[in-house]
Order: sequence, then C-alpha cells, then structure tokens
Amino acid sequence: MNALIHPSRGLDSVETGIAAHLDEFIALRRDLHQYPELAFQERRTSKLVAAHLSSWGYEVATEIAGTGIVATLARGNGKRRVAVRADMDALPIEEATGLSYASKNPGVMHACGHDGHTTILLAAARYLAESGNFSGTLRLIFQPAEEIGAGARKMLAEGLFERFPVDAVFGLHNWPGVPAGHFGFVADAAMASVDQAVIRIVGKGGHGAEPHRGVDPVLASASFITALQSVVSRNVDPQDMAVVTVGSIHAGSASNVIPESVELKLTMRAFSQAVRDQLQQRVPALARAQAESFGARADVDYRLGFPALVNHRDETAFAREVALATFEPERIEKDFRPRTASEDFAFMLQQKPGSYLFVGNGESAPLHSTRYDFDDTIIAPAARYWVRLAETFLTDDNG
Ligand SMILES: [Zn+2]
Ligand SMILES: [Zn+2]
Repeated sequence: MNALIHPSRGLDSVETGIAAHLDEFIALRRDLHQYPELAFQERRTSKLVAAHLSSWGYEVATEIAGTGIVATLARGNGKRRVAVRADMDALPIEEATGLSYASKNPGVMHACGHDGHTTILLAAARYLAESGNFSGTLRLIFQPAEEIGAGARKMLAEGLFERFPVDAVFGLHNWPGVPAGHFGFVADAAMASVDQAVIRIVGKGGHGAEPHRGVDPVLASASFITALQSVVSRNVDPQDMAVVTVGSIHAGSASNVIPESVELKLTMRAFSQAVRDQLQQRVPALARAQAESFGARADVDYRLGFPALVNHRDETAFAREVALATFEPERIEKDFRPRTASEDFAFMLQQKPGSYLFVGNGESAPLHSTRYDFDDTIIAPAARYWVRLAETFLTDDNG
C-alpha cells in the first residue's frame, strides 16, 4: 500500500474540530464509566452509541452479536473501505479509584478503558460525519464482549465482513506506563495468544498421619509445578516468547488429611503458533508423567482461547505514517515492544489486513486493576488520529 499522507502537522482543522466538542465527549466517557456493563450485556452502552451515530447521519446496524454495532458512512466516488473498531464491555471488578464518576454498578468496572475506546471512536465519528474530508466507505465497529474473548468471534460468525466488506481494519488500546497521548506500533505479532488449562491431579486421600496408605496429590502437584518451569527454559527456543503461569491451586481443607485431588488453573501465552502448539503438547504431557511418577493421575482440560494478535506489515507501516504525519515525532514511541497481554481483535486480523496500535495512558494503575484510571486527555489526540487515518485511507487517488 502506498500511503499518501498530508504533509501538514501541528494545529489543524481536525484538531480544532475535535476540541470544539471535547467537553461533551469527556462527559460521555465519564457517563459510560459510571454505568459499566459486562460482556454481551452492553445494552445501555450500545443504545447510546447507536443513538449518537444515527443523529450524525450514519447508517447504523445494531444487534450484531447481541449488542454489537456497525455504522457506515459513504461519501464521494472512492472505492476503498476502511473499518475502525472499538470495544464496549467492562470487567467483573469492584472499582477502588474513589473518583467522583466511579462505577455505580457494584462489582463491575471499566478497568480496561473500553469506555475510553468507545468515546474516542465516537468523537472521531462525529468529526468525520460533520467535516470529514474523504471519499470512500467508512465503517465503525463497536464490539461487545472483548474481555471474555467472545465478541469479535461472534461478530465474525454473524458475517461481519460479508455484510460490511472492508479493505482493512484498525483498532487501538490505551496503555498505562506509556506517556499519555504517545503512540506505539508493532509490526507482526503484537499481543500474545492465550490458552488455559484446568488440571486435576487425582491421588488417594487418607489420614495425614499415614501417608504410606494413600497417594498424595499435593506432593505430585508440587513436583509438577516445579517441572513445569522447564517448559519455557528447556523446551521453547530461547529466542521465542512463552509464558506458563499457575494462577490457581486448590486442595484440601485440613492439616491432617491427605486430599483426594488437587485442582490447578494455568494460563499459557505465546507470540507464535508453533510455540503455542508446543505448550499445548508439553504442559499436559508433563502433568500426566509427573502425576504418574507418584502413582497419581492427571486429568487435563486444555482450553484454547484466542490466537496471537498479528499485525499486517503494510497496514502497520501505513498506520505509523499517519501518526508521523499528524503528531510531533517524539510522540511516536521508538521500538515499541509487543505485549504479552491478549486481545480478541486477533480474530479480525485473521480475516482482514490491518493493525492494532497502542496509545499511552500515562501513569495510571495497570489495566484490570481496581485503581485503573483512563486518562481523558488522550481522547482528543486518539480521535484526531482516527480521523486522519480514515481520511488518508479513503482518498480517490489511493488505489
Ligand atoms: Zn481488558
Ligand atoms: Zn481491553
């Protein structure tokens, strides 16, 4: 793809246009924050998003994957079609920020900033509808249920890109720890695959004073957990990334009883399918062999989650060029590294070329923390970025 980028930089009409309504969008973001909704329950959010988009002249398709929305705006004779996606769901977390606009839904919190992603795309949507300088078809995807890794899959299963064809799709995530309003781009694998295993190590319970009459599953699991460390250090190529974490272990309830079984829950992450396959082979094999060596048994339920998010090179180069043409060069992070978190936008990138990028969220607590705080100062630059990306992609002379 040959990106033809407008040479202007600094204060421009997009910047002033977005600034004109910024207060309303900050208020909207805080409203969404107060009423967070869990995966596939984003009814209030979805209604609000659809109402705004309709009022700005978009053709709005609702109830895709339940609460999902695709808004379309075609202009001029341009043949190209670009999609930008935002996610809308919150997490089952009790907010502890103490903010005046903290969650009013007990036990539910926008702790990943999807309220911000939705607002950013709406701010861009309004500008593009009212003043956007483009020729082609713009599609805005508001996706449910990212946090449980199901929303993108469901939208695709319901024919997202057959009903709403596009040439490329883009998305973004805010990132705490990166200066607010800075941009990060990663070609190729940008976020990890995520798989889970629930492993039950079954022994033979008995009296804690007579271990020789039983088979102790606690000892077998301790040995398994230790052996598990060799998967990353001895099986996976040292040049590749892999994570194996035991995040949960449960057994027994008394000091003097050898329990019947132990249940472990693991998460596995990788950037490549080859490593992902290797983990899927090695983790169960070790569980079974380790258990057996103690006379116990391992029942392994290995649950494939979603693949690594792999950005397409040309579209990533394009996305980066747009940022360089829009902002001061120091706001484009140098050598931004892939993240070991996961993102179900990966499924969209398996069907369409595109890129997932990162916008710094400053010194907030981490994503999924009870104290996470979306930085409203990133709404304007990120919305401005989406406008510039859409306008640059959708030009008559751009192939
Ligand atoms: Zn999240
Ligand atoms: Zn997220």
